[in-house]
Amino acid sequence: MPEPLLQLKNICYSYHSLQMETPALSNVSFHIDTGEFVAIVGPSGCGKSTLLSIIAGLLSPEEGTIIFHNPDGSLHYPKIGYMLQRDHLLEWRTVYQNAILGLEINKMLTPENTDRVLQLMKDYDLYKFKDKKPSELSGGMKQRAALIRTLALNPGLLLLDEPFSALDYQTRLTVSSDICRIIRKTGKTALLITHDLSEAISLADRIIILSRRPATVKFEVPIRLSPPDDSPLASRNAPEFQYYFNLLWEALSDEKI
Ligand code: ADP
Repeated sequence: MPEPLLQLKNICYSYHSLQMETPALSNVSFHIDTGEFVAIVGPSGCGKSTLLSIIAGLLSPEEGTIIFHNPDGSLHYPKIGYMLQRDHLLEWRTVYQNAILGLEINKMLTPENTDRVLQLMKDYDLYKFKDKKPSELSGGMKQRAALIRTLALNPGLLLLDEPFSALDYQTRLTVSSDICRIIRKTGKTALLITHDLSEAISLADRIIILSRRPATVKFEVPIRLSPPDDSPLASRNAPEFQYYFNLLWEALSDEKI
């Protein structure tokens, strides 16, 4: 049995100010296997973004351990890609210049890396827009460009913090489906935070449900939809979809969101 890519054990974290302490996470434990697409859902303000910041190394847990494994079982800290609600594309750079920004900052502008970016742009219908400015793209194209910028650095783990929530509902459906397709095709391991239960069910291999703050793992549910090879959009019509939706809805209703 291979070691999981990421293992969290009893993570605790509180915010402190002079006036008060705000416990955000309490004994959070779960794992993510290599190549898995895991979604986290939980009540608003329960600590989901805090958890991603801890996994990304932006915050240090007060208690608990985080372990990353290589496929051979050795320990390592992978490159982590972080995708946020907003695309944060820079308007004074072209779409291509935005896509290679991380490579530029990290002094990784090799022909091999730039060729990979151009290939991703070709694969995901952005190539003919590569010399445009971000404002000339649709919301969905901007998110695809942001994902390519993240993938350019070849991260071992992708953290997605509500990356579709700034999009209107219809765009959100197609963009989330597109982004999921890209992530699966590139074989990346991904952790998605979302408050949209249907989105979590249609995209993820497994869903982790958090309690209200301070968050702890309430339970996990593997998602098995038929037909399994269909697109995330089509999977919303799977016969099992409603069962999972009701399960999550009831779990989160107990948490009084
Ligand atoms: P979620 O992503 O689930 O909405 P967050 O992780 O953003 O939740 O926040 C968890 C809790 O911690 C919230 O109650 C929030 O108000 C509080 N919090 C977040 N950031 C800070 C901070 N910098 N200082 C104090 N409290 C914070």
